[in-house]
Amino acid sequence: MAARILGGEAVAREIRLEVAAGVEDLVSRGKARPHLAVILSGENVASQVYVRNKIKACGEAGIESELIRLEGERDGGRVMAAVRDLNRREEVDGILVQLPLSQDADESEVLQALDPEKDVDGLHPVSAGRLLLGIEGLRPCTPSGILELLRRSGIEVEGKRAVVIGRSEIVGKPMALLLLQANATVTICHSRTRDLPGVASGADILVAAAGRPGLVTEEHIRPGATVIDVGIHRIDREDQVLDFFGPDSKQAAAFREGRPVLVGDVHPRRAAEAAGILTPVPGGVGPLTIACLLQNTLKAARLRRGLPARP
Ligand code: NAP
Repeated sequence: MAARILGGEAVAREIRLEVAAGVEDLVSRGKARPHLAVILSGENVASQVYVRNKIKACGEAGIESELIRLEGERDGGRVMAAVRDLNRREEVDGILVQLPLSQDADESEVLQALDPEKDVDGLHPVSAGRLLLGIEGLRPCTPSGILELLRRSGIEVEGKRAVVIGRSEIVGKPMALLLLQANATVTICHSRTRDLPGVASGADILVAAAGRPGLVTEEHIRPGATVIDVGIHRIDREDQVLDFFGPDSKQAAAFREGRPVLVGDVHPRRAAEAAGILTPVPGGVGPLTIACLLQNTLKAARLRRGLPARP
């Protein structure tokens, strides 16, 4: 039987409305509006699109935003200077450094320079430590969005076997920790894992965050499992489009017309035969990442104003 496709748009909209209400609640109590600053450096086209969407989403939720655009080849020092300036500015509640940075910037050094109270991407070592210890803090947006999706879609996590493919600081590791906190039994896979299909197919909940187009097929999926596809890739070869979607698909038609076609880390056609629930790409995890950024910005603003994390 074909999998149920679980989009993230509806849950993302729900979260965004809650954030908008939370922002108005703050303002009606005479508090300053939450304020997010985004640093964009380099010329990465995808980053420019992501940042534009984040700024637009802030506006719709009533959050003030500003974009610090750093252009030019060698801007590592300028990113650090911008972070230090935003750390100092009282009205700034959240700082997001859009990754990847240009080659001369040291990503880890930049992230460590952030004021942890303003770390709305949840990547500072203090945020990572709070996550590890299970104490209140700002969590990385993509994994917390996935947990919101599972929770709000009524997919039980407690007691389930969860497998996360990928161990990055931004997705894989925090995802595994959040699932563990939600009482799943968690396994983390990576590029050196032996027999990935054998391990992955033990999962009730499988999260694919390997950055490899179409890696996960029916061999990796226990029949009826919930499969969350975090990957996002633009396909530039017709044979791949045909393999992933089939010759009569709307993606094949789009490709022939020169329009972009995206795929995740899950092979959409083959996985759909085995999974019980499958998130699509696009329109699955992506919208939740932005919604959770807004949620984190409101949370940071509340904590900085001496209020509890949630209304
Ligand atoms: P990353 O930093 O490249 O990490 C990829 C992880 O996958 C690594 O831990 C790597 O293992 C593992 N891996 C690679 N190939 C593998 C294989 N064949 N078998 C098993 N494990 C393998 O990527 P990331 O930043 O976590 O992102 C993952 C994907 O999610 C990317 O496609 C990215 O574009 C996407 N993403 C989407 C969103 C969203 O909002 N939708 C947000 C963030 C990321 P090693 O550690 O051994 O190298």
